[in-house]
Order: sequence, then structure tokens, then C-alpha cells
Amino acid sequence: MRMFQVCVCGQPLQLNQAPTPEPKGSEVLLKVLAAGVCHSDLHIADGYFDMGGGKKLNLEDRGMKLPLTLGHENVGEVVAVGPDAKGVKVGQRMLAHPWIGCGTCPACLRGEENLCRVPMRSLGVFTNGGYADYLMVPHPRYLFDVGDLEPARVAPLACSGVTTFGALKKVPTLKTEPTVIIGAGGLGLMCQALHKAMGGHSAIVVDIDPVKRKAARQAGAAAVVDGAAADAAKQIIDLTKGGAWAVIDLVGSSASARVGYDSLSKGGKYIIVGLYGGELTVSLPPIPMRALTIQGSYVGSLPEMKELMELVRRTGLPPVPVATRPLDEVNAVMSELRAGKVVGRVVLTPA
Ligand SMILES: [Zn+2]
Ligand SMILES: [Zn+2]
Repeated sequence: MRMFQVCVCGQPLQLNQAPTPEPKGSEVLLKVLAAGVCHSDLHIADGYFDMGGGKKLNLEDRGMKLPLTLGHENVGEVVAVGPDAKGVKVGQRMLAHPWIGCGTCPACLRGEENLCRVPMRSLGVFTNGGYADYLMVPHPRYLFDVGDLEPARVAPLACSGVTTFGALKKVPTLKTEPTVIIGAGGLGLMCQALHKAMGGHSAIVVDIDPVKRKAARQAGAAAVVDGAAADAAKQIIDLTKGGAWAVIDLVGSSASARVGYDSLSKGGKYIIVGLYGGELTVSLPPIPMRALTIQGSYVGSLPEMKELMELVRRTGLPPVPVATRPLDEVNAVMSELRAGKVVGRVVLTPA
């Protein structure tokens, strides 16, 4: 099988070949039909996250082992099942939930494998992912039958979808007040679509790129704000008539955090999802006096993935622009993503 791997951090992915593995125990082998390219892939390939102030979080120190096949948004067809893998049949088309924990720690036992405290086994992050002909999934419980749905449009649900769904679930005022969404790239458009599907009141979308603001408008944003404007936070405060009850920051840069945090209402919640990197310095007294919440949201849990699939079955697939490209073009696609040239999602399809 072919697989595109990070061999040296900061270098393009390398095409390697290996014998196709056979599933053991509860494992299930998928033939990859679609693998979405996510912004996090850029950070994983770089090998670090920017912690601000010149500091870096090194992923190899956190348990990432090279070479590593990237790709955590995968749909594939079951081609082989291990002797203990129950409830899956060869030929089924499945979405693979990639956020896999140890299965035995308190977080995993609560169903929050995405918060596992021991090194996670996430597909395409800590174990081999779907930028390959085949993908091994450790247990059938991480698989969701997608039936006749188009694989390339389903694949982004595994990260982009469940990540924004998990963040939206943290908004208590979702149905009664506008939600501010910072970032209108692939993740932002997914967030807008799911916000609508979940019965969200209205969305105010912030982006520094006029092309992406236009896409957000077309996707139904009640208002758009230029995140680079000196008065961006004030514009949001005016649009929300006194400050935002909830801001979901899908960028997570020093600049976006400043805008998001500064635009909160009393009792408001700033939910940070994006991993662009940087830092935020805040005065402490306003946090208690204005009863503010700063909350992180990391991908999604297996129960959230299940809930998201049920939502999609009821309301249809999120209408996020998806472009497909051959797997061989993965390095070009990642460069385009890095340059900010991608509107919506690019999904790789093995030839
Ligand atoms: Zn991702
Ligand atoms: Zn665990």
C-alpha cells in the first residue's frame, strides 16, 4: 500500500510503501475512499504548535512517532475484519472517528476519549491515518455507516464537523442569541452550517479575508466583520447590542483571541478551538466582575460524533464546499492550505 508520511518535521510528506496490514483482534481494515485535509495537518507536519512568546509545543515530545501517515478525516470501505470485530461487514462504507484514547482512564470511561490523559491513539495524529490506500481502525465502535452518502462530503465530519459541533454544544445561548464565529475557512463554514442545522439563532462571522467573508455571507451569516479592523470588537458589541454571549474562535491566534475576548458581554463565553497559536494577556478582575468564561474545546467525543451523524441523517449533509484531489497531490494541497487559498474543504481520493 502507498502512504504519505511525515518522516522529518517541516519537510514535505514522503511517499512510502508497505505491505497492506491484516486486522488482528478487534481491528477493521478500510480501503480509503476519501481523506480530508485539515489545518492541523500543517501543524503536525511542522511538528509543533506556536505557544506564543517564541515558545513551541513539540509534538515529538508529546508522543508523536515518525514516520507517521497523516489524515484524520477518513471514509473507507471495509475490506477485512479481525476475529473479534463484531457488527461490521466487508463492503460497508464507514466514517472513522479518529479521536481515540486509551479506553481505560477516567476520561475514556466517561466517553470523553478526546480528553484522554495518557498519549492518545488518534488516527493520523499519533497512529497512521488515511493519506494512504488503507487505514486500520482499532475497533468497530469508531466506525459509522455512511450508506450512500458521498464519501468526500462525509469525511470532513470526522474533524471539521465534530470539532465545530463540540464547540457549538458548549454555547448555552445557541437558540436564543447570535453566536459569533471567528474564521470562515473550511472549519468556519462547517460551523455555520451545523449552527443552522442545530437551530441556532443567527451567526455573526469574523474573518480578515474579504473572499471568506463573502462565502460566510452566502452561507447565511446575519453579519460579517473584518477581523483586522481596528474596531472589530466594537463592531461585534454593536451588532450584538451590548456584547456577545458566545464567541467561537476557530482561528486561535493572538489577534483573533483579542477580538473574541474583547467583544464579550457580561456573562459571555469565549470558546477557543483554533490552534493557530500565540497568547492572550487579560486583566483578572473583569473575569469575576463580568462573570466571563474562557473555555477550550478540543475535537469531539465519540458520543458527540454519534449525535452529529444522527443530526446529519435528519437535516442532510452540511453544504460546505468540497473539492476532491488525487491523493498524490497531498503536498500541493497542503501548500495551498498554508497559503490560505482554500475555500471550504479539500478531500483527497486515492486513485
Ligand atoms: Zn483536523
Ligand atoms: Zn484514556
